[in-house]
Amino acid sequence: MRVLIYGGSFDPPHMGHIRSVRTAAAALEPDEILLVPAAEPPHKALSKASPPPAERLAMAELAAGEIPGCRALGLELERTGPSYTSDTLRQLRRRYPKAELIFLLGTDMLLTLEDWHEPEAILSLASVAVFARETGREREIEAAAARLRERYGARVYVLSGEPVSVSSTQVRELLPRRQGRELVPESVYGHIIRLRLYDARPEFAWLREKAYAYLKPGRVPHVQGTEAEARSLAERWGVDVDDAAEAAIVHDITKKCGYDEQLCLCEKYGIIPDACQLASEKLLHALTGGPFAAERFGTPAHIVQAVRWHTTGRPAMTDLERVVYLADYIEPNRHGFSGLAELRQAAYADLDAAMDLALRMSLAEVREKGRQPHADTVAAQKYYARKLREKGVPPVAWTPEE
Ligand code: ATP
Repeated sequence: MRVLIYGGSFDPPHMGHIRSVRTAAAALEPDEILLVPAAEPPHKALSKASPPPAERLAMAELAAGEIPGCRALGLELERTGPSYTSDTLRQLRRRYPKAELIFLLGTDMLLTLEDWHEPEAILSLASVAVFARETGREREIEAAAARLRERYGARVYVLSGEPVSVSSTQVRELLPRRQGRELVPESVYGHIIRLRLYDARPEFAWLREKAYAYLKPGRVPHVQGTEAEARSLAERWGVDVDDAAEAAIVHDITKKCGYDEQLCLCEKYGIIPDACQLASEKLLHALTGGPFAAERFGTPAHIVQAVRWHTTGRPAMTDLERVVYLADYIEPNRHGFSGLAELRQAAYADLDAAMDLALRMSLAEVREKGRQPHADTVAAQKYYARKLREKGVPPVAWTPEE
């Protein structure tokens, strides 16, 4: 029996790790493959942005799911102090008394193996398999392997294959810049984004793909238009363009849900809708959309709030909230209703005037349908009308069509 053991920080696991394991699995045909994340790596300090060991174990479990016969083991998380490989191998030797244990490592680790804690113990308990992290170091690897064989009687397998030149350090640097998705397994990326580990922010292409999957196909052009408009309004008003885009992409994410589903979501997220919201699916989707997006994409609170207020508005909205509210109203696919041209102009001229007009239009539309407008919309319109008076700016002229 052969057991392949891959230790590391897995902070996070990346495609270099996956390629190594797949190459080793193909060459050595182990019966089991174990990913063993270090609780306290003895060789290096963890980055300040690193999540706790249990979180790295969770990511290792997801990465293991990408490789047949592979699982992650929390062995080192149960011990205290530095996570020495020799201790891990002793534990595994007790579990697998007859198996050939093969410890897999990359070039950097092979070259420093003799400096590790108890290298003799490691090399007597396990064989070593090395997979290059980059091309051009074959001679160094062969020389190190020969030395270990000679000095310790070690069994060393030098694996060949196309390396994937990536490190966790590089991934950690890219994630906050909305990059690096292709460097980690898909499941790991989703997990990182959901929890916003490493201050990660989603790549827009990924977020769109995932968010659009919740929409009726006919709604996608509206969401695309809202994103484009939100980006341009954000630029105009000095709002973070990425935040505006993120909010726009998810703003209608629960719009497809029926009434009962909306109520289930309210229940799930601890939202207690008022009577007016209970009477309208349109109002409910604004309540549930933000928490729904937060659960799936780790959407931060200020963006959740922009989704929360995109239908009713409220007094004293943040600029981001106003940008999203207005973008939803005036995006290029909207047409054919009275006041739209004036609103489009106002949105780029004066945010307060645009809000006052949009809210008046919204109140008129609701009343025309014979419904009671939500109190937040009434209060918001009063707020922006007063703001205009205080600024001495006349409201945009517009009267609802009879
Ligand atoms: P960091 O950048 O945080 O130092 P890392 O990318 O080196 O992390 P670790 O989890 O510390 O990743 O590495 C675990 C094991 O995987 C080590 O044996 C290391 O040599 C090996 N390894 C890491 N990256 C690669 C890669 N791209 N190709 C092959 N082996 C790799």
